[in-house]
Amino acid sequence: MKAVRLEAVGSIALREVDKPSAGADDLLVRIEACGVCGTDRHLFHGEFPCKPPVTPGHEFSGIIEAIGSSVTGFSVGDRVTGDPNIACGRCPYCHAGRVNLCRNLNAIGIHRDGGFADYVVMPQKQAFRLPPSLKPTHGAFCEPLACCLHGVDLAAIKPGGSVVVLGGGVIGLLTVQLARLAGAKTVVLSTRQASRRALAEELGATASVDPGAGDVIDAIAGPDGLVPGGVDVVFECAGVRDTVEQSMRLAKAGGTGVIVGVVPQGMQVAFEPFDLLFRELKVLGSFLNPYTHGRAAELIATGAIEVDRLISRQVTLEEAPAVIANPPAPGEVKVLVVPGRG
Ligand code: NAP
Ligand code: ZN
Repeated sequence: MKAVRLEAVGSIALREVDKPSAGADDLLVRIEACGVCGTDRHLFHGEFPCKPPVTPGHEFSGIIEAIGSSVTGFSVGDRVTGDPNIACGRCPYCHAGRVNLCRNLNAIGIHRDGGFADYVVMPQKQAFRLPPSLKPTHGAFCEPLACCLHGVDLAAIKPGGSVVVLGGGVIGLLTVQLARLAGAKTVVLSTRQASRRALAEELGATASVDPGAGDVIDAIAGPDGLVPGGVDVVFECAGVRDTVEQSMRLAKAGGTGVIVGVVPQGMQVAFEPFDLLFRELKVLGSFLNPYTHGRAAELIATGAIEVDRLISRQVTLEEAPAVIANPPAPGEVKVLVVPGRG
């Protein structure tokens, strides 16, 4: 079969490799679509720990082609999405139910071979069924949506509440939709690209702001802003210093800032502890998708979340190495690798 191999930092190529086979507890899945994520680019540049050679791709879904002898509840031909994050189940964090903090996390597409290939093998416990009627490309959104769901769960949005989302990539645009589903009445997106602001407003944002056009704090939380005094919840979905700093200033007293964006390791930001104390702000980190993949699959399966308009481009396995090795094109939201399309 064909697989995109990260052979070393800075070296990625399409190779012919042996088709894997399912162990007793595994599913062999023919990939229908696998999303390209910023993490794949970080792996290529050596900015995220992994041990090449490995096949990247952790946002995948496809059709079961073979099942191991101990597999129950799945059949050949089922469409499934895979939660790539395999927790060990035996470290203190796993025992406490904090599987995303597992000390021995073994992630498909990072530590073991993933979805930029014709086939992937995954343990049955990581799989969730998707309906046969679903558009084959939509299953690739379960993983990013599951990460956003964790952030939204942590934020505990109340019906009628107000939300700001900073950063209009796929994570921000999914979070906008989830915030509306969770009952927020006001959802403001801040992102620089006009096309993303327009899309966010079509997907449920009640307003959007251009951080390049003036002071974001004034525009949103200032006396003449969209939500004077600030909002209940801010989701930082850009992973840059400006937005992390803004998140603490856009939350109203008693409000919550959720850091979803991955800022470069070692980066420091300025905040005023007095402000945190005096306004009783909560600042939370949201990491991965603990126990949210199944719900993400249901939201995708029922069409409750719009994903079709987030697909900017579909590429073949042959085209995938260049896509991963280069920065995203302007305006691009999500690129999907679709094996067998070429
Ligand atoms: P992305 O496409 O890079 O989206 C981030 C967007 O933020 C950028 O494209 C940019 O859009 C916008 N941005 C940059 N600077 C900004 C600023 N000063 N103000 C407002 N917006 C700004 O990435 P993504 O796939 O949506 O992911 C977003 C972040 O979440 C990444 O850091 C990713 O690593 C992280 N992530 C975290 C988890 C988790 O478990 N916590 C899971 C998946 C991804 P414009 O050009 O329109 O401004
Ligand atoms: Zn563990």
